[in-house]
Amino acid sequence: MSNTNTPLDSISFDHQDKDLFLLDNLSLKADAIKHSILPRMTVIANELVFIMNQIYGFNILEDSSIVKSPNFRTTKNRASVKLNYNYCISGISGVRKNNYWIGFEKKNSKTANVLPFKLEFNLDDSGLFFMLHNMYLNDWKVESLNKLFHFTIANSALIQSLLLLSKSSPSLFYDKDSAPILPFKDHIELHIEKEWRELIYEGPIIKFPISNSEIKSLIIGALYLSPIYLAYINIAKNQESNFEEYVKLLNQWLKTNPNYFTEKVDPLTEKNIPNIDLESLDLKIKVMQGIRWQVFQRDLWRCVSCGRSSEDNVILHVDHIIPRSKGGQDKLENYQTLCHICNIGKSNKDNTNLRNR
Ligand SMILES: [Zn+2]
Repeated sequence: MSNTNTPLDSISFDHQDKDLFLLDNLSLKADAIKHSILPRMTVIANELVFIMNQIYGFNILEDSSIVKSPNFRTTKNRASVKLNYNYCISGISGVRKNNYWIGFEKKNSKTANVLPFKLEFNLDDSGLFFMLHNMYLNDWKVESLNKLFHFTIANSALIQSLLLLSKSSPSLFYDKDSAPILPFKDHIELHIEKEWRELIYEGPIIKFPISNSEIKSLIIGALYLSPIYLAYINIAKNQESNFEEYVKLLNQWLKTNPNYFTEKVDPLTEKNIPNIDLESLDLKIKVMQGIRWQVFQRDLWRCVSCGRSSEDNVILHVDHIIPRSKGGQDKLENYQTLCHICNIGKSNKDNTNLRNR
């Protein structure tokens, strides 16, 4: 029952992806994030939405939209703009609609067009993690923001269970007057009293290299936070949070799909398991540092077989023209850019150089 429309199975992040965030070639970095990192991050957010649609039985994208960052907005003199991107984000947030979020007001008493919270995945040179957080807090009416905090207090026990299952922790503020150890509920009350407006639930960070199964375990982790996210959405619409109903639906789905991702692993232990599967090891052998970006750049960030790019919702891969197992070398000439669709079509026995066809 997995989503066959997305190439989730081909998504992972390796040390070349990590090192990219540290490159000083800013235009290469921007291109690589736009054409290679962001498309992979978007697949992850899409999968989260796909599963949420199944669990909750309605179209999540009616009230939410996929958010991505950086946005690569173009300006007239784009060539002179060199931004240093050192992160990549995909996730969901409230859809941008005029006069829609009537439960939420800005300080100027205008109804919100954009909501101040996101459920997102964040990749940077430290690794990949998910979080549910609120933001842009200075513009908001305290009464509006307090609705989220009051909801949290009223449902603190169930929220704590969800945090535990998702391996997330809340980032709570302290100051010298506050007791260092408080029940979660009391701590949120202290946030209201002190007007600390930020509330972040952050999952475990998965360090590079990040395997496909680790990504899937993070999607499951983010799913545990989805009832809280959907409750926030309802609060912003000035409706009942429906929180307990969402938790019930999530429970039902978990019961009927215990192995949604069959290779679901504990992200904290997987890196200790030695990989002795030689055949798959051969496929996973790392292309040398940085060469991937050179190959993509030479091939103009397009699949050399079909011509598709990130704008066509494909994931680009670097392919050995002559496989390593057949003596193919780790040289620029022996690599070509293939999209995930063409890459599946080309077996390891096929030495076709699609670039010179
Ligand atoms: Zn292709």
